[in-house]
Amino acid sequence: MQYDVIVIGGGMVGAATAYGLAKQGQKVLVLDGEDLTLSASKANFGLVWVQGKGWDHAPYAQWCQIATNLWPELSDELKATQVDISYQRRGGFDFCINEQEWQERESMMSALWKNTDGMFEYEMLNHSKLKKMIPEISKSVIGASFSPQDGHVDPLALLQALCKAMQNLGVTYMGNCLVEAITPTHGEYVVKGAKGVFTAGKIVLCAGLANGQLGEQLGMNIPVVAERGQVLITERLKPFLKWPTLNVRQTAQGTVQIGDSHEDVGLNDGTTPEVLKQIAQRAVLMFPLLSSVHLVRAWGGLRILTPDGNPIYQQSTSNPGVFSVTCHSGVTLAAAHAGPLCDWILGDSYLPVIEQFSMDRFDV
Ligand SMILES: Cc1cc2nc3c(=O)[nH]c(=O)nc-3n(C[C@H](O)[C@H](O)[C@H](O)COP(=O)(O)OP(=O)(O)OC[C@H]3O[C@@H](n4cnc5c(N)ncnc54)[C@H](O)[C@@H]3O)c2cc1C
Repeated sequence: MQYDVIVIGGGMVGAATAYGLAKQGQKVLVLDGEDLTLSASKANFGLVWVQGKGWDHAPYAQWCQIATNLWPELSDELKATQVDISYQRRGGFDFCINEQEWQERESMMSALWKNTDGMFEYEMLNHSKLKKMIPEISKSVIGASFSPQDGHVDPLALLQALCKAMQNLGVTYMGNCLVEAITPTHGEYVVKGAKGVFTAGKIVLCAGLANGQLGEQLGMNIPVVAERGQVLITERLKPFLKWPTLNVRQTAQGTVQIGDSHEDVGLNDGTTPEVLKQIAQRAVLMFPLLSSVHLVRAWGGLRILTPDGNPIYQQSTSNPGVFSVTCHSGVTLAAAHAGPLCDWILGDSYLPVIEQFSMDRFDV
């Protein structure tokens, strides 16, 4: 057997998992796709976020608490790579622009608080309290929810740092190596990729939207769908926004990232003027100062969603040793993927909450 574990997919989820497995002494190979293969990790918003996550599903709320509490440790470890990931955990806002949004947010935050047995910290702030913290906010924003547990990071730098960190621990990374076939043979798995044939005792599927098709080869029905989000970037501005918000955040370099659209358009990761206009208008409604800035870039990216929006962590029943790690919020969950998730993959004592993310919850 050449490797203990082959991780298929070198995005945020694969890189964090490979890093965690290598930390536990595993000999790991990461097989990744090509530059133009779909990649949510290169298209996301960079929030390390708990607000709203798991308000209707207690295990997910608890898992996000675990992940975000482990994040400072991950951030410290990644300093050894000398990649500046600009991680900050000062808190974050989600704005309300009318009474209905306020009422809905308040019940959502209260449900999330209950689902975490009071671990989730938050406050509802009216306009005048908000204005004291963010003077540039417009009067159209009637208030906001604030959680001191939210944060953000430079997502591209995070991906680079994870890749460097895993390779520093001896992980072999092979890009441009799309996997074509995975076959169980005599207690191990043979993986045929564009650059050769490799064997390992365990396989972890971290190929994002391609997990559905890869899982099928091994009798796993992994339900996964794409949801497009479009993102805008402005020119660099003087610092005016110390905290990230759900749809506007100022990066460490001064640019402002604007996003949070949700579209069902299959595997089309392009942009459209209509949606870009909508997200820009909402941002200007919140921060009038943005009305006169230049936009420098726009892109679309595909979220990896499961039917209930929660992760799927599942070991194949017909092919033990094959695992699916399929999820949205791979930035937020990175520290949990590099930590407790690897205990589960390796069969060590692991956190029981992980079992709540098996496919048993779907009727498939
Ligand atoms: C617009 C947008 C905003 C988002 N904002 C946030 C946010 O603020 N916070 C947050 O936590 N999450 C956010 N997300 C979600 C987050 O980006 C994803 O959860 C995360 O990137 C998923 O990582 P992944 O590694 O599973 O998938 P991907 O990044 O898609 O990576 C999959 C990898 O698998 C490879 N691959 C595919 N097929 C094969 C194959 N056959 N063989 C080998 N390799 C293969 C690909 O090349 C790719 O590198 C956002 C997503 C989008 C689209």
